[in-house]
Amino acid sequence: MNETPEKPAAAKKATAKKTAATKTATKTAATKAVAKKAAATKAVAKKAVTTKTTAKKTTAGTSAKKATAKPAAKAAAGKTPAKKAPARKPESRAAMVRRARRINRELAELYPYAHPELDFTNSFELLVATVLSAQTTDLRVNQTTPRLFAVCPTPEDMAAMDPERLEELIRPTGFFRAKAKSLLGLSAALRDRFGGEVPGRLEDLVTLPGVGRKTANVVLGNAFGVPGITVDTHFGRLARRFGWTTAEDAEKVEADVAEIFPKSEWTMLSHRVVFHGRRVCHSRKPACGACAIAPLCPAYGEGETDPEKAKKLLKYELGGKPGQRLKPPADYPGQPAPPMAPPAAAS
Ligand code: SF4
Repeated sequence: MNETPEKPAAAKKATAKKTAATKTATKTAATKAVAKKAAATKAVAKKAVTTKTTAKKTTAGTSAKKATAKPAAKAAAGKTPAKKAPARKPESRAAMVRRARRINRELAELYPYAHPELDFTNSFELLVATVLSAQTTDLRVNQTTPRLFAVCPTPEDMAAMDPERLEELIRPTGFFRAKAKSLLGLSAALRDRFGGEVPGRLEDLVTLPGVGRKTANVVLGNAFGVPGITVDTHFGRLARRFGWTTAEDAEKVEADVAEIFPKSEWTMLSHRVVFHGRRVCHSRKPACGACAIAPLCPAYGEGETDPEKAKKLLKYELGGKPGQRLKPPADYPGQPAPPMAPPAAAS
């Protein structure tokens, strides 16, 4: 068995001194390492704050806009007077066009299933449904047209309708007297001037009673494959929030947007923007905190920025609710809309 011989006293003392020195050196090195780590952490934290600040500045286009947008929204609700927005750093035309096209690409990823939200099976049905959609929702139109088209499926049938009977059929869509007059007029015009067919040219369509550029573009884009920008209330609002236009007039908005995007994109761009307006970027309370294109939007902050609260503002398939079409396209990820509820039975 091997045993370690005992050290003499002087040797023991030297060893103890050496151990103490080693311990001190280790402790100093460790302290230095901790201090170095702390400094590094501090630097990272500082960088994060800087990044966050920069992101805050750029994400919303301008934080100044954000700061002033809320009072403006409150003022709209009659709570506090709107303050004047401070001047924003101007964006060059080229940068705006790049950002606009990126928004379109992001919306295409977000809504690959974007489509017209009116149910139709041919150009005449689409034309009628679009006329009926004025001042009401597409859902209400979709719940109304199955009965209407069962009674009068062609322009000839509709033109021969008793006005009161037609008014009764379209009553749920509102403004039914004026709309019935337009439908009777446009059906007669299709029968008498266009051989019972819906024409595929804008200049012909706008000559029909009750048909303006918006309706004509919807029909051209979705029944004839002719590119068109559809400026409804949602499209106009979002185009202004995105900074694509400052115009309020629909024709001016259409002209401004047409200069930003290639013609081939016009129809689908219209659907995507309208989809986003209906689901996320609402008129009164946009769901900014749940908006996928917030980093590209100069109006970020006009609505709810808290992610959880914003999520509750989402509509249709994004909010887990039925869509507007009773017969949506096959790729629509949400549930179809319900048919019109039958009138309550008399007691
Ligand atoms: S929801 Fe907010 S961030 Fe998104 S597009 Fe609308 S205003 Fe811009």
